[in-house]
Amino acid sequence: MQSCSPQLTRAQRSAIILKILLSAALRSRLRNVAQAHVPARPGGLRLVLAGVLIGLRVSILASGSSGNVTLLETERTRLLVDAGLGKRETLARLAAVEKTFDHLDGILITHEHTDHCSGLPQMLRIWKAPLYVTEPTLGEMQRILPETFGKRLNGVEPIHAGEHFCIGDIEVHAFAIPHDAADPIGFTFRSNGAKMALVTDLGYMPELVKVHLRGADCLVLESNHDLDMLKVGPYPWLVKQRVLSRTGHLSNHAVSEYLSDPDGFDAIARYLVLAHVSLENNNPDLVRLSAEEALKRRPTESTFTGELLVASQHVPLKPLEL
Ligand SMILES: [Zn+2]
Ligand SMILES: [Zn+2]
Repeated sequence: MQSCSPQLTRAQRSAIILKILLSAALRSRLRNVAQAHVPARPGGLRLVLAGVLIGLRVSILASGSSGNVTLLETERTRLLVDAGLGKRETLARLAAVEKTFDHLDGILITHEHTDHCSGLPQMLRIWKAPLYVTEPTLGEMQRILPETFGKRLNGVEPIHAGEHFCIGDIEVHAFAIPHDAADPIGFTFRSNGAKMALVTDLGYMPELVKVHLRGADCLVLESNHDLDMLKVGPYPWLVKQRVLSRTGHLSNHAVSEYLSDPDGFDAIARYLVLAHVSLENNNPDLVRLSAEEALKRRPTESTFTGELLVASQHVPLKPLEL
């Protein structure tokens, strides 16, 4: 596996933090700094010190069929995953989570559906960042997006499902997901001992996808629709069939099956974020209730003790620090 230099293990991070704590220069300052011991996964204790060292920061700016944008940051690297909002809305959401920046290290696109890439020409104009995308997805985007897209490309890094690559100090793994697009992918991101997984827009949970999601400190997973609401809802029959198909979207029920199964979901995530929630065929309270009920069905030895969150189409989620 390719590694992103400098790649710190969890133990190395703890050692560095302890050194910082012991340094005389910081000792007096630290008296006034909030600190907290947060139990990490078995085998370690993570020391989180406000403002000193963050493994990976995740800001979900928007999630759903009207637009998806997620910002990932370390101390050295800043990435955008999907660009499904226009310039004004993206900048407003960034401002809402107190982010303004001139430099972006890359934009990654999961697939060519417009809720994931319609704002891409504008994002490329603002940040002139390289684009990380599979070739079939790029081909479809060139067909769908306005001509300005091609003119504003500042370099394309072709990626492939099943491949690891590094952007700055973030190691990225792309993997195939079942969805009705040219070459749809999900991602895991690792940096400084933290792992984040992002998978939305998939018709079902293949075993291999479940394997990729294991070990995530933050898991962002689609919980798109309630089956009953979809069936009686406003969508035309053909669209309902598409959403329900093996290359459509994940239902609350499918998510429940996954979350209740210790052989599927390992429950070690500090943050479990349910995302891409349909505005017409679902609601956030139902998503939460369904997931909570599923998590209660887990055996006591593998209880989920993290925080359950539901991402919104309209409001950014609070930044999650891993
Ligand atoms: Zn989507
Ligand atoms: Zn899609």
